[in-house]
Amino acid sequence: MIKKFITKLLGKPASGKPDFGRRTEVPASVHGIDPNLVDERAVNVVRTLQQAGFEAYIVGGAVRDLLLGLRPKDFDVATDATPEEVKGLFRRAFIIGRRFRIVHVVYGRGREHEVIEVSTFRAYLDNAAAEQVKGNERTSKRQLEGMQHAVDSSGRVLRDNVWGPQDEDATRRDFTVNAMYYDPQTQIVVDYHGGIQDAKKHTLRMIGDPVARYREDPVRIIRAVRFAAKLSQLGFKLESKTAKPLVEAKALLADVPQSRLFDEMLKLLQTGHALASIAQLKHLGLAKGIYPLLDVVVERADSAFVKAALADTDRRVGEGKPVAPSFLLACVLWADVRDGWAQRLARKDHPFPALQEAIDEVFDARIGDVSGRGKLAADMREIWMMQPRFEKRVGSTPFGMVEQPRFRAGFDFLRLRADVQEVDVTLADWWQEFSLADDATREDLVQQARAEQLAKPRVRRVPKPATGESRAAAPVADTLPSSDGDAAAPKKRRRRRRKPGGGDGVGAASEGAAG
Ligand code: ATP
Ligand code: MG
Repeated sequence: MIKKFITKLLGKPASGKPDFGRRTEVPASVHGIDPNLVDERAVNVVRTLQQAGFEAYIVGGAVRDLLLGLRPKDFDVATDATPEEVKGLFRRAFIIGRRFRIVHVVYGRGREHEVIEVSTFRAYLDNAAAEQVKGNERTSKRQLEGMQHAVDSSGRVLRDNVWGPQDEDATRRDFTVNAMYYDPQTQIVVDYHGGIQDAKKHTLRMIGDPVARYREDPVRIIRAVRFAAKLSQLGFKLESKTAKPLVEAKALLADVPQSRLFDEMLKLLQTGHALASIAQLKHLGLAKGIYPLLDVVVERADSAFVKAALADTDRRVGEGKPVAPSFLLACVLWADVRDGWAQRLARKDHPFPALQEAIDEVFDARIGDVSGRGKLAADMREIWMMQPRFEKRVGSTPFGMVEQPRFRAGFDFLRLRADVQEVDVTLADWWQEFSLADDATREDLVQQARAEQLAKPRVRRVPKPATGESRAAAPVADTLPSSDGDAAAPKKRRRRRRKPGGGDGVGAASEGAAG
C-alpha cells in the first residue's frame, strides 16, 4: 500500500532494465587516436589508479575529441575507486561537489596549473531504480557508501552519487560520443553505445530515450546545443530523435537552479563557439526562454558591438588565451548601461553618480541576485566605470589608470568600442601607446593630448538616449563627462596604430592578462 503510494508519487515504475549496451573494445588500428594528443598528467592519473588495483580510463569529452583528432581542452578520468580512495593516492587531490562528488587532482601552480577531474563510476538510476536500490537488502555496502541519491517527482536527478559498474556509468552519460573510455596503456577504447560509429557518421545521439533523459536533467538541452555548435564545423548533426523533443523539453529548465543555468550559459559563450551556439539556438527553435540573460545575448548577437565581442571571445579561446565572463557580459549589457546613463545625464545628473546608478539599475534588471558572483559583478562595474575615465588624458589620471589591475580589461573594452566606431579609434590608439610607453614618452603623450584638447572648440552636446539597433554603435564620446573636452580627438591627427609588444597584448576578454 505504502509502496504503491510512493510509486505513484514518484511516477511510473521502470519499464524494465534500461539498455546498458554491449561492451566493445576497439583497438588503436580502428579508432586511430594519436597518443601525442593525450595529456601526460591524465596518463599519470590513470597509471597511478591502475597500479593501485583500480580500473581507470580517460573518459567523456576528451575521448570524443581525441577520436575526432581535436586536442581536448581538459581531461576527465573515470574509475571504480571511490573519491576517498582516489584522494588517498595523490598528494594534491580535493574532493569537491555535492550533487556530483568528484576529485580534482592538481598539477603545477599558478597560471600553468592543471586539474584532472576524477569521477567514480556512477550507477544508472531513474527514479524507480533509485527506490529499488534503497529497498534492496543486497545493495552492497560499497554502493550505499556513496549513496546520496535523490530524484524529484518529475524524474529529475537531484543528486548523483551512487557508485556502480562501468556499463551503468556509460549509460547515464548524455551522448554516445561522450560515453567512451580510453585506456592510454593498452590504447583500447571501450564503447557501449556505438559511440565510435556515431562519431564516424557525425551524429550526436542521446543515449536511451531522449525525452526521459531531458526530464532527468534538463541541462542536457543546453548541452545538446553546445555540442551541436562545437561539432558543427566537422559536420556533426543532432540525430532527429535527439533534436525533436528539445523545444518541448525547454519548459523543464524552469526548475533548474539559476546558478547552474548561468554556468551552462557561460559554457555556451566561452568555450570558443559562441557564434555557432547562437546560430544553433536559432536553428533549433531555442532562441528564447532558456535563460533570461541568454535571451539578451541572442537578441543582441547581431548588433555590431556584441557581435564583435562574441567573435573576439571565440578567437581568443581558439588561440588558447584566457577569457573572462565579466568582460563578455559587460559587452552584452553595455547598451543598457549607456542608455540609462544618457538618460540621467540629460536630467543634468552628475556624470559619475549617474553612471553608478545606471549600472545598479542594470544589475537589478538583468543579473538579479549576484550573491556568490561578487567578483564578476565588481569586475563588470569596473570595466564600465573606466570608460569615461579614458576620456581624461591629462594630469596624473592616465598614470593611475594604467596601474589599475583591471586596466587591460577596461582598455580591451574601449578598443572594442573603437572597432565599432563608438569612440574615435585615436583614443584607443593613444591608450595603447601610453600603456606600453616609458615614463618620458608618457609625459609627451599627455602633452600631445593636452595640445589637442586646447585646439578643439568646446562644444558640449546634450546626450540623447539611443534607441534600436543603432544603440550599440551610437557615439557616446561627445556625451561623456569630459571636463577637459578632449573626448574625440580630431581624425587628422590619427596616429599610426602599433601592435603591442609580446604577442598577447591587447584583445577582448583578457581577464587577468594585465601587465
Ligand atoms: P567539453 O569538451 O566541453 O568539456 P565534455 O563532454 O567533456 O565537453 P563535461 O561537461 O566536461 O563535457 O562533462 C564530461 C562528461 O561527463 C561528458 O562527456 C558526459 O559523458 C558526462 N556528462 C556531463 N554532464 C552530463 C549530464 N548533464 N548528463 C549526462 N552526462 C553528463
Ligand atoms: Mg570536459
